[in-house]
Amino acid sequence: MEHRLEVEIQLSDPPADLAAAEALVRRVADEAISKTLGNRGVGTLAELAVDGSLVRLVLESDGARPHQALLSLVRRLGEELGRSQKIGVRGFRSPRYRVTLPLEAPPKAEVTLPIPHRLSTEGTRAVLELLDLSEEALRDNYMDRAAALVQEKVRRQHYEGKEQYWALLSESRPREVRFQKDPTEEMLARSWVKSGPTKGKWYLGPTAAHLLRTMERIAREEVLLPLGFQEVVQPHHDSFDILLKTGHLEGLPGEFYYVAEPTTRDPAAWERFTDLVKITRQVPEEELRRMVSGPTAISCYAQCPTTYWWLGGRTLATDSLPVKIFDRAAVSNRYESGGRHGLERVDEFHRIEPVYLGTPEQLTQLRTELLDRYTRVFDRILELDWRTAWVTPFYMQQSGKVGVDDAVDRVKGTIDFEAYLPYRGSRADSEWLEFQNLSIVGDKYTKAFAIKAQKGELWSGCSGIGLERWLTAFLAQKGLDPDGWPSAFRARAEPLPKDLHFL
Ligand code: ATP
Ligand code: ZN
Ligand code: MG
Repeated sequence: MEHRLEVEIQLSDPPADLAAAEALVRRVADEAISKTLGNRGVGTLAELAVDGSLVRLVLESDGARPHQALLSLVRRLGEELGRSQKIGVRGFRSPRYRVTLPLEAPPKAEVTLPIPHRLSTEGTRAVLELLDLSEEALRDNYMDRAAALVQEKVRRQHYEGKEQYWALLSESRPREVRFQKDPTEEMLARSWVKSGPTKGKWYLGPTAAHLLRTMERIAREEVLLPLGFQEVVQPHHDSFDILLKTGHLEGLPGEFYYVAEPTTRDPAAWERFTDLVKITRQVPEEELRRMVSGPTAISCYAQCPTTYWWLGGRTLATDSLPVKIFDRAAVSNRYESGGRHGLERVDEFHRIEPVYLGTPEQLTQLRTELLDRYTRVFDRILELDWRTAWVTPFYMQQSGKVGVDDAVDRVKGTIDFEAYLPYRGSRADSEWLEFQNLSIVGDKYTKAFAIKAQKGELWSGCSGIGLERWLTAFLAQKGLDPDGWPSAFRARAEPLPKDLHFL
């Protein structure tokens, strides 16, 4: 048999009638197996022994994993032993649970798990044994998740380092290069911006702030409002609960800024801390750690998760679809570490995030409308040298989750908008800057947050309008001097604030 689950069930007392108790376990086990495993393969009670108040048994199966029979087995056993022998079930655990699983390819390196286990592989077949599983681990499906994780880790070994899928969708005509400097360096030289007091954060003085807000106004007035998007204001902190549902917590734990809380607001409890500050004029770090909790949330990473939380568990009426909203209140924070560069890659950025929910047809049409509007802004107002590309992580593409080879099915997935930055080199060979994107994710998040439509399928998607990226893309191509700016942009940006002069 492929799978073997050893179980120990703790009873409140030893059964008075051992033979009857054994017969009862056998019957209850057979019933549970035929109900849960029987219709999808073979399942058997391979071993059984009652040892004082401990029932030891082994469930084996092919196909469906045997823990699926365990919960109903234990529940029925408790009911029937209670009735016939006045004995209860106190709990259960598994000293050893072994399953066999297929891999997409033979592993290239050792695969580890952070819970007690043994793993062996032979070609594309793996045998995973979890040890010492608690009742909670059995109820909570740890085995299925651990098995899926082993498969995912092996798959990743094969795609590691491979480029993400990138296919050109459209491009603007090349534009005359008018400026070839790094716009952040130029803004620094003019005191428009200053590198912030903490990592990757920037202070934008009046002129830079005005230009950033001009970009925001253009996006709102030329793209979002005409398409019927409505503004929301969402909180700035995301709960771990939300991140568990979206998958961000397992996907990006090294990119968050974490939020901590004071353990108390009582000034008396902080007296030692404040006294130390008064005497040393330094941060008493050890005392601070004592007075502050561990992380309780994260600072906004992307805005859409909180919107899914807002709609979670609700059914949307047909006349509310498609939902079209945007947030520009939450500021995004990301730990970019070595990747930081100027205003292009910062640890704190300002982004408008439109989020949309609707039928697949509604979202496909909305995407076309958004693309048209964005195109008009980039061609006629900002006059950018830009292009779009269809992008998909390589491993997703390979595992068939996204139909990238099928032109008709290029609906679910992400389109990146990229701008040419002349200071980085030639148009053909340099790396372009992703300045925004547009995704349709199908039912991934509507499912995860139990958001339903009154009728039919409900899909969702979002678009990330990165304002620092719009600004750097524009300034990198047009320079900081308004004389070089397109007239449609000047009309929206002028008059500019007066620069501060420093002595
Ligand atoms: P990149 O590949 O450049 O790191 P990303 O794929 O991480 O971008 P998304 O998570 O898709 O970006 O975020 C959507 C948008 O948010 C981006 O298109 C960009 O405009 C903006 N953005 C993301 N990270 C940053 C950053 N560190 N600094 C400034 N803007 C950013
Ligand atoms: Zn999003
Ligand atoms: Mg990134």
